[in-house]
Amino acid sequence: MNERLAIVVPCYNEEEVLPQSIPVLCGLIKELAAKGKISGNSFVLFVNDGSHDRTWEILKEAHEKDPSVWAQKLSRNCGHQSALLSGLMTAREHADLSISIDADLQDDTAVIEQMIDQYHEGCEIVYGIRSGRKKDSFFKRVTAQGFYKLLARMGVKTVYNHADFRLMSQKALDELAQYQESNLYLRGLIPLLGLKTGEVHYERKERTAGTSKYPLGKMLGLALNGITSFSVKPIRMVFTMGILVMVICLAAAIYAFVSYLCGDVEPGWTSTILSIWFLGGIQLLSIGVIGEYIGKIYAEVKRRPLYHIEELLNDEKK
Ligand code: UDP
Ligand code: MG
Repeated sequence: MNERLAIVVPCYNEEEVLPQSIPVLCGLIKELAAKGKISGNSFVLFVNDGSHDRTWEILKEAHEKDPSVWAQKLSRNCGHQSALLSGLMTAREHADLSISIDADLQDDTAVIEQMIDQYHEGCEIVYGIRSGRKKDSFFKRVTAQGFYKLLARMGVKTVYNHADFRLMSQKALDELAQYQESNLYLRGLIPLLGLKTGEVHYERKERTAGTSKYPLGKMLGLALNGITSFSVKPIRMVFTMGILVMVICLAAAIYAFVSYLCGDVEPGWTSTILSIWFLGGIQLLSIGVIGEYIGKIYAEVKRRPLYHIEELLNDEKK
């Protein structure tokens, strides 16, 4: 039982929370090492995702004081999912198991020990599951839960009420590395690995300081990515909608023809204008949905790297 743990923490403009989060996470690593649950050379890997504030300076100072603080600097802001993946891939090279957590410590660090126990019992992945969202705003709670339900209806398998707080073994990270997707939605990918999983439950807390780095626009982007990267149902729905409209038009044509034969012809302005708008709307919507998928294919075929690591401060000479 001497495995090396890496706690992976993506950070974007987190100067307000890091002075609190760094000591908590480093203290936890030392406590777990003292209990013999992980090896003494375990570390916390902070990934600076192109922050504009003092995040990198804070991380550099912390690394100089304590070698268990590792800091990885991305060359620009690549987004939470890519920043997290970059950290996990570094952890894969240097550690036996990883735990990902947000910098604001809204997720409960107290359950990390249970996660490690489940890893020792043979789980390759352990999900942190929120038993409640009482501390989230009403808007965040309703939109997030609505989104998970929508994903399920679209046939995307995700773990309900789980975000990116999870333990992954080195084996799980090796398997994850095989996925070469540019449109990254980790919460949808991990269940596809099919490895033995466990769960721990916790109450989600409020952000300790600073503001959310996930404004509505980014949240909608992630949601759209989650659906269109994992499901072709929206395209099928467009197809079904097309058939439905055709049937309606056929019925309308029969009605118009019969009216014509009966000599009961309406001036027809309302029906003409309505059908133009209706069909035009459906066509634009359909093109939009198809365009979304073509855009995805465009991004995938280019095979661009998702991130560039500018610098890695660690305790190993590579
Ligand atoms: N984050 C990031 N890059 C971004 C946006 C966010 O690395 O472009 C990080 C952020 O620093 C935090 C985590 O992603 O550690 C989750 O963000 P936040 O806590 O603001 O999201 P919320 O909890 O409000 O959904
Ligand atoms: Mg948060």
